[in-house]
Order: sequence, then C-alpha cells, then structure tokens
Amino acid sequence: MTPASTAARAVEVLSGLRLAVLTGAGLSTDSGIPDYRGPDSPPRTPMTYQQFVADPAFRRHYWARNHVGWAHVHRTLPNAGHRALTALEARGVVVGVITQNVDLLHEEAGTRNVIDLHGRYDRVICLSCATVISRTELAGRLDALNPGFAESIGRVADIEIAPDADAVIETTAHFTVADCDRCGGLLKPEIVYFGESVPKERVARAFALVDSADALLVAGSSLTVMSGLRFVRHAAKTGQPVVIVNRGATRGDPFATLKLDAGTSETLTELAETLPPLP
Ligand SMILES: [Zn+2]
Repeated sequence: MTPASTAARAVEVLSGLRLAVLTGAGLSTDSGIPDYRGPDSPPRTPMTYQQFVADPAFRRHYWARNHVGWAHVHRTLPNAGHRALTALEARGVVVGVITQNVDLLHEEAGTRNVIDLHGRYDRVICLSCATVISRTELAGRLDALNPGFAESIGRVADIEIAPDADAVIETTAHFTVADCDRCGGLLKPEIVYFGESVPKERVARAFALVDSADALLVAGSSLTVMSGLRFVRHAAKTGQPVVIVNRGATRGDPFATLKLDAGTSETLTELAETLPPLP
C-alpha cells in the first residue's frame, strides 16, 4: 500500500471534523530524537520518580546525563509532522494538540494550542519550594560547578539521546549536582516521570480539549501509558471517531475507527494537503 492511499483512508474518516490531536515520541523521531518505545528501539529502563528522590548517586548520574542531553534537544528542529499540524490548526481543522513529548517542537513549529501533558525539558522545579527556573539558568550553574565536564564527554552527536533529554554516558562519578538556591531543596526537570501523576488541572484541560473536538487523531504514540490511553478510551466512549497513525501496534488499536501503520511526517503532511479548511 502506498502512503498516499493510506492517508486517503484517514481523510475519508476525518473530513469535515474538528480534530483534537494526541502526539507521542514517534512524531519527533524524524527530528532526531529517538523513540525508546518504538518497534526498532533497544529496550530501555526509564527512570522512576522514586529512584530520583531516594538515591543521591542516581540523581548525580541523572543530572550529568541530562546536562549533556538537554543541549541536544535544545538544538533540535521541528519536522514535517509538526509543521503539518500547525497548518491544520491555522485552517481550523485542528483545535489543539496534547503531546506526551517534552521537546517543545510543537511550540517551535508554531502550533498555538498545545498541552504539554508530561511537562517540558526547558524548565526545572524545586521539589521543596516549587520555585521554577529555566534549564538555561541551571546549565550555567552546572557548568560553573563542573568545569570542563561537557567537553570531556565528547561530541554530543555520538551519544544516544532519549526523549527526556537524558544521554547515555558512563563517567558521572565526579559530577556535582546543583540544589535550589532559595531553599537547598532537590531540583528536578519539570517533566512527569514514571511513578508520577500528571497534574490534575492539566489532565482536565486535556479532556476539555478532546471534548471540544469532533474526532481524535493520535500520531506517533504506542499509548503504552495510561496518561495518553485514557483520552483514546474517552473519545471512543463518547462516540468520536479515533484515527491512530503509528508504526507498530498500540494499546489504543481496539478503540480505533482506523489504524494506519505509517510514518507521521508523510501521513500528516498529506492530511494537511487534503483535509478541507473549516470555518
Ligand atoms: Zn527550593
């Protein structure tokens, strides 16, 4: 089957409908950020919130890798899939995007209504006093505490980068972590980790976005975690058509009106070229 005829089936289902869109790591792989749950990815054990708060050695290792990885994500550019969703939003077809990605590529591509379900890589929060600082500010502090560290790791391009701005490197024993400069509390990326819940207010906004649309389009998510799957179940239960575009099986497939085993860049580009504008 050609990609053209694949997307044509989605157009049949979605034409004339206002879409809420749920995106996952598969959407950003064409920007060079690997999807660690994708069909071709090596198995990877994600960090849990409990590990992060309980174990200083683990935290040091985490921050050392994040210090290398975040700069890579910071330089990453949106791809055709992100741009297609921006075009569909501008034409009234997409009402908003709920993303499980923390890379901010939807915002970078110009999409206006974005809910960053799992947080964003460019902010850091104090777990004691809830002060939020920018990752850029923290980078300056970590550079000062660890002179020469980033350079000693070598070229970032040679290092595996995970979607949460984590990088796989070995030598982190001498890395010095920065604590909150207001209260001395633990700093953590403002990202929802395994073992953590998405803030209730954010979940409520995401459900409201789904309810404000006529159909749900899922792009590049295997829907492995409930934080995303619940929107698919909700849409199906309320009678909305659900279209899933993803390489490989997803947990949402039983709820889908149409499942396309296809790449997001080409499929979304064709949808953007084919779906008629809405008032
Ligand atoms: Zn603090």
